[in-house]
Amino acid sequence: MKKKNPLTLYLLADGARPDVFKRLLEEGRLPNIQREILEKGTFRTATSCFPTTTGPAYLPMLYGGFPGTLDVPGIRWFDKKEFRRKRFGKFAARTYVGPEAGYFSDDVKAGNPCIHELFDRPFNIFSMLTKGVPEANDLGAKGKAWMYFRAHYFFVHQPVDEEAHKRMMAGLDLDPEFFFVVFPCIDWNSHHFHPEHEETIKSYEYLDFSVGQVVEKLKKLGRWEETLLIITSDHGLTQTHTHLDLADFLRSKGLKTLAHPNIFTLSPDAAVMISGNSFGSIHLLKNGSDDILRGDEVQAAMGIEVFEALIARPEVDFVAWRGVENEYWVASEQGRARILQQGGLMYEPVTGDPFGFGKMDRPLNHQEALAATFDSKYPDALVQIEQLFSSRRAGDLVVSANPGYDLRDFWEIPEHHGSHGSLHREHMMVPFLYNQQGWDDRPARTVDIFNTILKWMGKEEREASEGRALC
Ligand SMILES: [Zn+2]
Repeated sequence: MKKKNPLTLYLLADGARPDVFKRLLEEGRLPNIQREILEKGTFRTATSCFPTTTGPAYLPMLYGGFPGTLDVPGIRWFDKKEFRRKRFGKFAARTYVGPEAGYFSDDVKAGNPCIHELFDRPFNIFSMLTKGVPEANDLGAKGKAWMYFRAHYFFVHQPVDEEAHKRMMAGLDLDPEFFFVVFPCIDWNSHHFHPEHEETIKSYEYLDFSVGQVVEKLKKLGRWEETLLIITSDHGLTQTHTHLDLADFLRSKGLKTLAHPNIFTLSPDAAVMISGNSFGSIHLLKNGSDDILRGDEVQAAMGIEVFEALIARPEVDFVAWRGVENEYWVASEQGRARILQQGGLMYEPVTGDPFGFGKMDRPLNHQEALAATFDSKYPDALVQIEQLFSSRRAGDLVVSANPGYDLRDFWEIPEHHGSHGSLHREHMMVPFLYNQQGWDDRPARTVDIFNTILKWMGKEEREASEGRALC
C-alpha cells in the first residue's frame, strides 16, 4: 500500500560497536530501543567500508557508494597529479579535520546525488555531508563549530548529543521527510576513554533515552506507523595502546615525508595521509612522476628494505597496492596474496595468505564476495580493496593497522585511546537496527541502506548505487 506521508529517521550512532550494542540490549540497559524498535523490528550487523573512518564512512548510506569509487578515500587524502600540477593548490592535499571539512560534499565525484537531493524535505543534524539540505533544515549548523571545538579540546562531549536530541525533537514539528541525525559521543568517548568505558556506555544509554522520546513524539504526531527508523554506526572502534607515526617511520628511513600538519615540506620523497587513525595511505614522489605506481614499482620507489621493514612492524597488519592490470596485492607477515578482477573477484595466496581466505578461484560478484568473507577477520576485503584503489587519491600503497595500534603519534591532540579506519572486522562490522521485519537477510553492507531507504519511501532505486535494497 502506498504510504501517505512516510518518514525516514536515521540515527547515526557514530562509532557504536555491534557487540557492545548487543550486550547492553541483553542487559536491559537500552529498554526503549528494545521495546520501540526491536519488538517489531530487527537487530543485525552490516559491513562498513574501507577506510572505516568518520565522514568517508557516511558515504555508503548518504551517496550509495564507497569512498574510493566516490573519490574521497579518507578523512585526509593526497592527489599526486594535482600536487605536480599545482604544488599548493586546493586539490593537492586535503584534511577534513578542520576548516577544509566544508569541501567534503564538493569533493565527491560528480554525478552522484546525495540522498538529501532526492527528497523534498530533507533535514540534517551534525553530518558533514549536507549537500541538498536547505540552510533552514540544517538544524545542526548553529553553534556547531563551537560545540565541536569544546568537545575536542575540553572533552565536553555529552552536551553535543543532548543538542542533537533537542534539535531533532524540534525538527519533527517541521514535517521532515528524510531526517539524518548524528550522535557523535560514542565515537568521542571511545577515543578519549575506550570503547567499553562507563562514559562511553552512558552515550549508548543517552541514545536509548532519545529513541524513547522521539518515538513517543512520532506517535503523538500520528507519524510513527509510517516511519522507518534506522540506527547504525559508521565503524567499530578498538582500544589503542601504542602509536606508530607512519610519517616519522618513513623519515627515520631517510624519506623526506610530507604529512599533516606539516604539508609545506620542500621536495618531499613521500606523502602520508592518516585516517581514523588505523589507516594510512603512502604516496611516493621520489621518481618525479605524477602517475600512481603499480606492481614492483611500489617497492622500488620506496626501497625494498623500507618496504620489508614496514611489513615487519608489529603495528602494521597488512599493506596493499595495485598490480599491473586488474589485480591488487596484499602483504603481511603471513606472506603475499593477490586479488584478481576477471569477470568477478578472486583471491590467490602466492607466498602466504594474509587474509586467511584460502584460494578463491571462482570469480565472485560483489554479493558473493561479501557472503564468502562476511564472518571472516576481514569482511568484504576483496570488494573493499578494489573500490579503494579506484581512486588515485588513495595513494600508491595503503597500510591497515593491527587492533591496539594506530599510525599517528603526538600530532593528535588530545591523545587517542581508541582507533578505527582499518579493514579488521572490529572496525568493519556495525550494528544495523530498524523497526521493520521480513527484509532480505542476505549479508548486508551499509551501502545497501541507500537504496533500501529510497525503495521504502516509494522512490525509484538508483541503478548506479553500489548497494541493493533489502526491503
Ligand atoms: Zn565515526
